[in-house]
Amino acid sequence: MRRKIIGLFTTLVMIVSVFTTAGTVYADSVNSVQTAESISLNETRSVTLKYGEFSDDYYFDSGKYYSFVAPYTGYFNFTLTGWKTKADGTSNATVEVTDNFGKIVNHGGYYNQYYNDVMSVAECIKGKTYYVEVGYYPFSTYEYESSGNATTTLSLIITPHTHDFNIDVYSFATYYDCKRCNYSYSKKTNTILPAKTTRSASAVSKDRSSAKNAVKKAKIKNLKVKSKAKKKITVSWKKIKKADGYQVQVSKKRNFKKTVYNVHTLKKKLIIQNSNIKRKKIYYVRVRAYATYKDAFGNVKMEYGNWINKAKKVKVK
Ligand SMILES: [Zn+2]
Repeated sequence: MRRKIIGLFTTLVMIVSVFTTAGTVYADSVNSVQTAESISLNETRSVTLKYGEFSDDYYFDSGKYYSFVAPYTGYFNFTLTGWKTKADGTSNATVEVTDNFGKIVNHGGYYNQYYNDVMSVAECIKGKTYYVEVGYYPFSTYEYESSGNATTTLSLIITPHTHDFNIDVYSFATYYDCKRCNYSYSKKTNTILPAKTTRSASAVSKDRSSAKNAVKKAKIKNLKVKSKAKKKITVSWKKIKKADGYQVQVSKKRNFKKTVYNVHTLKKKLIIQNSNIKRKKIYYVRVRAYATYKDAFGNVKMEYGNWINKAKKVKVK
């Protein structure tokens, strides 16, 4: 199916074109999509392309078409081998995949410096026909032989594509992007990364011991517990200068094994009322002081003083 062009005039035009408008001149392909040879998955097909005068014939083979019916829906590699390397180490070989309507469906297809190959990746749909054009344009004089002609044999192989992911890890998600095609996905990160420490261990330990010292000897004095109104408990105590706040608990039991009310407060007087506190029942109330410090992550932590020696008993109105 090789197209032959005979005639001196044509030959001259072609030669001039090759050397003056590199990259823009395309002669006819060896075949067309209508007469394309078929190629299957994992099969290799080779074509020898000629440029210049051979015997009495002049050839300018820009490429060759193959047809491929996808055996399943997925990504495929269309890899070219056998191409010549240019002086700069790259190649002029190309491989392009188009669908029935002539629309390019591939990614890549030119010389890839990172992988040192010429390959297209295309997502193909099961049962659909695709056209693969193998092209080669020896526009570098380096590629011509001493005769002034050039020949190259290119082999095409179609294989299943395995994504080669570029992975970006962030605290909230990990992103996977294929370096060769458009496939990408992301995964949300389930594990919560530890917060960055913002304070030195020595600063934390210094603050913590000063908080400890502040409440170590702090005693709750003048604790008054009364029930002045229905279902309400009024609690007050004497302010402690070094304390940052107070913890107040209310329980039905003297041992406080289970509390019906538990609060941290900055005040020194509270009126307690909640659904757990019933009328005509006996409750116990206890209070202790606390001082705060910041941990390595900057979070507020507490150091507690002792609970008041004797919890106060109250009968709710
Ligand atoms: Zn891919």
